[in-house]
Amino acid sequence: MRAAAKSSRVQSTMPTTTPQPAATDVSPSESGHTAPPFLTKNLAPLAPPVQHLRALILRHLTSTLARHPGAATPRDWWIATALAARDRIHERMIETQAVHNIENVRRVYYFSLEYLMGRLFESNLLATGLTEDARSALKSLGVDFDAVREAEIDMGLGNGGLGRLAACFLDSLSTLDYPALGYGIYYEFGLFKQEFVNGHQIEHPDSWLLFGDPWEVVRADYTQEVHLYGRVENVFDDRGNSRPRWVDTQTIVGVPHDIPIAGYGTKTVNLLRLWASKASKDFDLAAFNSGGYVEAVREKAVGETISKVLYPNDKTENGKELRLVQQYFFVACSLRDILRRHFRNPVNTWANFPEKVAVQLNDTHPAIAVVESMRILLDEHQMEWEAAWEIVQRTFGYTNHTLLPEALEKWSVSLFERVLPRHLQIIYEMNSRFLQKVQAKWPGNVEKMRTCSLVEENGNKMIRMAHLSVVGSHAVNGVAALHTELLKKQLFPEFNELFPGRFQNKTNGITPRRWLAQCNPQLSALITRTLGSEAWVRDLDLLRGLESHAGDAAFQEEFMAIKRANKVQLTAVIRSDCGLEVSPDALFDVQIKRLHEYKRQHLNLLHILALYRRILQNPSLDLVPRVFVFAAKAAPGYDLAKNIIRAINVIGGKINSDPRVNDRLKVAFLPNYRVSLAEKIIPAADLSEQISTAGKEASGTGNMKLALNGALTIGTLDGANVEIHEEVGDENIFIFGMTVVQVEELRAAGYRPWDVYQRDEELRAIVDWLGSDYFTPGEHGAFSILHHSLLGGGDPFMVLADFRSYCDCQAKVDRAYRDRANWAKMAILNTARVGKFSSDRTIREYAEQIWNLKPVRVP
Ligand SMILES: *Cc1c(COP(=O)(O)O)cnc(C)c1O
Repeated sequence: MRAAAKSSRVQSTMPTTTPQPAATDVSPSESGHTAPPFLTKNLAPLAPPVQHLRALILRHLTSTLARHPGAATPRDWWIATALAARDRIHERMIETQAVHNIENVRRVYYFSLEYLMGRLFESNLLATGLTEDARSALKSLGVDFDAVREAEIDMGLGNGGLGRLAACFLDSLSTLDYPALGYGIYYEFGLFKQEFVNGHQIEHPDSWLLFGDPWEVVRADYTQEVHLYGRVENVFDDRGNSRPRWVDTQTIVGVPHDIPIAGYGTKTVNLLRLWASKASKDFDLAAFNSGGYVEAVREKAVGETISKVLYPNDKTENGKELRLVQQYFFVACSLRDILRRHFRNPVNTWANFPEKVAVQLNDTHPAIAVVESMRILLDEHQMEWEAAWEIVQRTFGYTNHTLLPEALEKWSVSLFERVLPRHLQIIYEMNSRFLQKVQAKWPGNVEKMRTCSLVEENGNKMIRMAHLSVVGSHAVNGVAALHTELLKKQLFPEFNELFPGRFQNKTNGITPRRWLAQCNPQLSALITRTLGSEAWVRDLDLLRGLESHAGDAAFQEEFMAIKRANKVQLTAVIRSDCGLEVSPDALFDVQIKRLHEYKRQHLNLLHILALYRRILQNPSLDLVPRVFVFAAKAAPGYDLAKNIIRAINVIGGKINSDPRVNDRLKVAFLPNYRVSLAEKIIPAADLSEQISTAGKEASGTGNMKLALNGALTIGTLDGANVEIHEEVGDENIFIFGMTVVQVEELRAAGYRPWDVYQRDEELRAIVDWLGSDYFTPGEHGAFSILHHSLLGGGDPFMVLADFRSYCDCQAKVDRAYRDRANWAKMAILNTARVGKFSSDRTIREYAEQIWNLKPVRVP
């Protein structure tokens, strides 16, 4: 049982240079919840609950980490405190699972290849109500709470918005008492760590498990076996029915690692169950006996590569075999786990399966689950096609996250044939039955057949996973009102006609626990004081109660003092991470998100260049001092995105050190964007940049986090910006640029960036400047990839077309910021009016309109 040995992953990792207390100081047989007396004899007495927690922390420090407090590092204290909190979470988890099992409840299973959880220390303390006790207990031991919190490495098992959404959803599911499990992959390496060298992005592996993960529980007893590769044999049963058999497969084992997800203000603890891959057997005896010992062990290592690393691409799929294998691996393990749970209860049957099980597909990444379910029902349970299909369709829901063609997953038929030959057969059968429906709807229309088919036939045959997901699910949703409309009108118009009512909207949300209560404690305290209770943390619409204070000068003062204090804290991060000094009195203009052309960080850069040039041409130019804050990772193979990072870093460096600018502009590109960094930047933001080309950002959730924390949005009418605009009102947001319709019209008319460039003198000057080697002396063509994308490359995201409108809007921001009282009022109204974007609201809508799921209180 190797996996079981791993279950106490928390390892003692004391650097050898630090003196260690003798191991015999620790009594190994003591097991109570009290700390060893030799550790407590000189400690001050505390309130009983705090004293109890302190004893528990000390107990874990000695029994689990074998560490003397005098030698403990912040990381040791983090683990010991985490384990103390975990004790309480485990009790609730056992209780929750018992209630769910005994009551045989309906559950939702969230299938996602990514979970961007961030740190769990504070959220678990908040959920268990232990935050203040832990603070006091650590303080009494002379340990700094913030240093302990900072010792945790983010759990970064995702790329960006999609993975973070999954994490927010888990928080809301538990908080609202919905029975739920998240399924995914236990990546040994999450999203890469980012460093800048000479302005270039350098990637480093993220070994987040190096020091162990105190939150996880390994469930070796729920290990699952799945099969891959091989071939299909056509055998006939004793009645002459064809019974395809998938044979000569390779076997992979999935070992579940459970992360408890504790709800806030409730007892419910759901699970995030992540699968780690292992080879099927420790030794292939035949190979061993024939002298192939090393070969046998090497093969075993291949089995473990499946869950080794997260693919670092946001919004692109490049047909890699390992990626398909990852998808199938976690889906197959998860479905088997669901079946195990369902049939463990003797009253359950196939007939009530769709009453007990709802599965949500987070994008098409887990879409193979539809086919795997069919295979299990047809081949392993000899069910007829129609009966199997009904069960599958009633079970699955699919969330679409993008319209970008490069992000729509397709797998080549030849790859499928090799990796999942039986599944390919089933897809062909699904397709032929589906195309009969298309035929019936549009008789004789070959074009409709071609458009709708699950198989793309232009040259290299490909399986369209989005079509498969729509056909295999009873509900398909977009993630913002605008996105859902575009989904129905542009991406899936035929499917919308074929399946009326199947498409619906579920505007994304964010958890108010992490994105306000935890990350902005001062603002949270002000809100609680003003509203007279903490109820807003579970009911974000209550923030509307702040509206009546928006015009109150004293309240404005308090609100802005907190914003300034948060900015002061961020200046320290900018100092340590960028080596840059910035003033907290400047306007903090923030764009933090994955680096992608459609998000248009380069539009922001062009505006910075324009301001810089205006200062050089007019040294006394009156500008509100601004700090431009960036944070973004680029996919390692995305050259243009990396070139934009380099350009912002290099041009920013030049601006930062140019005395003529006289601190009116500063550019801070914080390296290694991740959840824990977002939590530091967002409370300090004055302005939130949401400037994607209209029609390209499905929803965005960064926009919601920033507005909730009192940043004003400068944005296009794209994704959820449209709904933020509706909520906060026209006077409290800065909208610019082309609408979706205008973008389409311009494209239809034939967009020529060259014309815009010729007509706008300032734009022409800065684009030429960017294309020169002015900012990179001696290094010619350093930004030629970026320069080319704007002109010769056709400017596919219409950066130049929106440039002037963006600059004009930024000038309005400059003017507005000078009226401090009015800015404060606008910021307060943003916080007050964005309660809609709580993921609690989103999850309730999924539960009521897609999953038909009821909350279950855990007593
Ligand atoms: C919220 C969040 C995102 C998504 O940001 P968008 O601006 O919506 O793209 C990405 N990464 C992290 C770390 C986040 O917290």
